[in-house]
Amino acid sequence: MAGPYDVVVIGSGMGGSTCAWALARRGARVLVLERGERLPREPANADPREVFLRRRYKPEETWLDGSPVPSRRGPLSGLGSRRGRPGIAPNGSGPPPRPFAPGVHYVVGGNTKVYGASLPRFRERDFEAVEHADGLSPAWPFGYQDLEQYYVEAEALYRVHGTTGEDPTEPWRSAPYPYPAMPHEPYIAELADRLRSRGVHPASNAMGVDRREGGGCIRCRTCDGFPCPYGAKSDAETCALDPAIATGRVDLMTGARVRHLVASGRRVDHLVVSTGEGTRTIRGERFVLAAGAVNSAALLLASDDDRHPAGLGNRTGLVGRNFMMHNNAHVAAVDVDRTNDVVFAKTLSVNDWYHELGTLQLIGKVQGVMMKSWATTVPLRLLDLLARRSVEWLVMTEDLPHRDNRVVRAADGSIMTMRTALNTGTHRRLHRRAVELLRQCGYDAVFTQWFDISMNSHQCGTVVAGADPATSVLDPWCRMHEVDNLWVVDGSFFPSSAAMNPALTIAAQALRVVAESELGG
Ligand SMILES: Cc1cc2nc3c(=O)[nH]c(=O)nc-3n(C[C@H](O)[C@H](O)[C@H](O)COP(=O)(O)OP(=O)(O)OC[C@H]3O[C@@H](n4cnc5c(N)ncnc54)[C@H](O)[C@@H]3O)c2cc1C
Repeated sequence: MAGPYDVVVIGSGMGGSTCAWALARRGARVLVLERGERLPREPANADPREVFLRRRYKPEETWLDGSPVPSRRGPLSGLGSRRGRPGIAPNGSGPPPRPFAPGVHYVVGGNTKVYGASLPRFRERDFEAVEHADGLSPAWPFGYQDLEQYYVEAEALYRVHGTTGEDPTEPWRSAPYPYPAMPHEPYIAELADRLRSRGVHPASNAMGVDRREGGGCIRCRTCDGFPCPYGAKSDAETCALDPAIATGRVDLMTGARVRHLVASGRRVDHLVVSTGEGTRTIRGERFVLAAGAVNSAALLLASDDDRHPAGLGNRTGLVGRNFMMHNNAHVAAVDVDRTNDVVFAKTLSVNDWYHELGTLQLIGKVQGVMMKSWATTVPLRLLDLLARRSVEWLVMTEDLPHRDNRVVRAADGSIMTMRTALNTGTHRRLHRRAVELLRQCGYDAVFTQWFDISMNSHQCGTVVAGADPATSVLDPWCRMHEVDNLWVVDGSFFPSSAAMNPALTIAAQALRVVAESELGG
């Protein structure tokens, strides 16, 4: 199908592909522009050396870290060490910006091609204002009840496997999970028993993989952080974009990097796009920007004109601000007497302290060679030895929005992020509690890798939604307050980060925006 198109979508990740799917279902003609290419299915998909050490699927691009205090941390810190702990930057000017390689993926499907497919809903309270020691987690311009029916749809679209009745913080739901939870392997089932004996409530993770009758998921050990060679992970390409293209109403243009959005008055008129064949102009009736929180903000800032001198839709100066990315750490708990033979590890969470501190989630089984990407000086044989006896967790705490945590364009046009982590005291408390719990469960040592700015995996904020045009960039249905035919539907609309994995909420909001706003026609 060739144009003209009703809607042009920029970016084929969680937000963009889900929008394209929902638009196609309503009969709209859609063009999706994606700067990357399709990620090939190849043996290297499951090779940790290729994926982690050689960064095979990451771009060459570098960003600048302009944070007042360098956010790069000691990579692997022992229990109790002060090294590697996040901190609040003091006031005053910091060191010059430092280049770093961001943990992003410019491919069809975006970051979902390598994501861990953990697809929980946010909790009701995540949509409400909550005061924390370091500041306010603001209310969203809509509540959990407004998104609930779209969570149901998103769980069906992304084939979420889960169960209810285990997690003390689970939100209400109007329909059961479409598929039953992934069963724990014996090592994890035993870990769950140990956790229960310490008084917490281990709960099954909500996972997006294809374990339906005849589904392609083989429960391999390279799911989290790797692309799926079987097409069995519920990524945005597999579950949303390809089905949308199959309707015949959606075209995908790869290798198409949008450089500017060009507005005429209150409307986007056309896009300027770099392709392998040179620069092209692309027109449409309505536009969706879904390039990921950092790139969407950078694109709006790059699209300044006489009417929008600070960037498109940026009269408030808020575009790029309130950049968040969760306070995250990986902990590896080692039991010297016990081999961890688990294959698919990511089946369990502990959310008992969610509202107060955050979540603990098992991650995919880490291999020694994966540890080598941060523990560069530790011999691989020692890392292999550790990995055979360790179980790995993600310790995740809410980040808070702050004006000064932001994405800007550096003088040479490259992306610069500035972030002083907030809510770090809470994160340290959660980490301490996790370590205590794991020690009580019989683990001999716990090692921590604190995430730094280069991870960027849960980036959000930067183009926030709100009811008031003076304090937000988008309306509650993600349409720009200042631009009538432009919606921003990716992680950038989040007014707060919650302490849960973001992708299902991005998808649910994309479905809501198409169903309830003029974007859907
Ligand atoms: C290793 C890893 C593990 C993760 N695990 C989980 C998890 O288990 N659960 C979870 O909920 N989340 C997880 N995440 C985060 C999740 O992947 C993101 O929150 C989600 O993909 C964000 O969706 P998005 O639409 O905002 O952006 P993305 O999915 O990143 O999509 C943005 C797209 O826009 C394209 N693009 C960018 N700029 C341009 C341009 N100028 N022109 C055209 N195209 C452009 C990009 O190439 C990309 O395809 C993980 C992320 C990583 C990296």
